[in-house]
Amino acid sequence: MHEIRVGEDLRGKNEEIARENRELLKKHGVFAINLMSAPGAGKTSLLVRTIPLLKEKFAVGVIEGDLQTSRDAERVAELGVKVHQIETGGVCHLDASMVHSALHAFDLEGVDLLFFENVGNLVCPAEFDLGEDRRVMLLSITEGDDKPKKYPLMFMESQLMILNKIDLAEFVDFDMEKAIGEARDLNSVLDVIRISCKTGDGVDEWVEWIERAVKAGG
Ligand code: MG
Ligand code: ZN
Repeated sequence: MHEIRVGEDLRGKNEEIARENRELLKKHGVFAINLMSAPGAGKTSLLVRTIPLLKEKFAVGVIEGDLQTSRDAERVAELGVKVHQIETGGVCHLDASMVHSALHAFDLEGVDLLFFENVGNLVCPAEFDLGEDRRVMLLSITEGDDKPKKYPLMFMESQLMILNKIDLAEFVDFDMEKAIGEARDLNSVLDVIRISCKTGDGVDEWVEWIERAVKAGG
């Protein structure tokens, strides 16, 4: 019982701070996207592919959540956008208070579109509202097509699923229709985009999705 109570307190506190983040972002006209996936699904590669296109239309910022290293933050910073790194020190997800501290590192008046690259993990990132406007998850086809059934919450909580690494389709045993079908059994309004960060297939569609989302607002 005690553990459950602690969990609820933590979650209540997180929701409160997420609400503050959302208000702060809204006040400064910043649209925020929380990017989630298992490790190695390609969140950083997706940002590296997309940011050069987005930079023409938006002032982009990135909050990079990582367990230990700043390697991903360095890759993104090379694109000339503002990046702030959160080293979670072993914590396997971002929470609203980590993001709140990171927001102070930005001049939010100078940002239109902010990505939170979550820690690579298919489980608990989905439990923590960060104050974002949209949640996007990546599933790489080098993972199993049974992931939606195994990790339902992330599929239920996201507005878009990106199937990444589709250039590898002929080499892996991943049934895309099955994965999409099972994800939509959990979330009937889930958008799906198939992408290869390597060849660039689908990247335009993703940029258009973002533009539509920004236009529709939080
Ligand atoms: Mg990364
Ligand atoms: Zn966690």
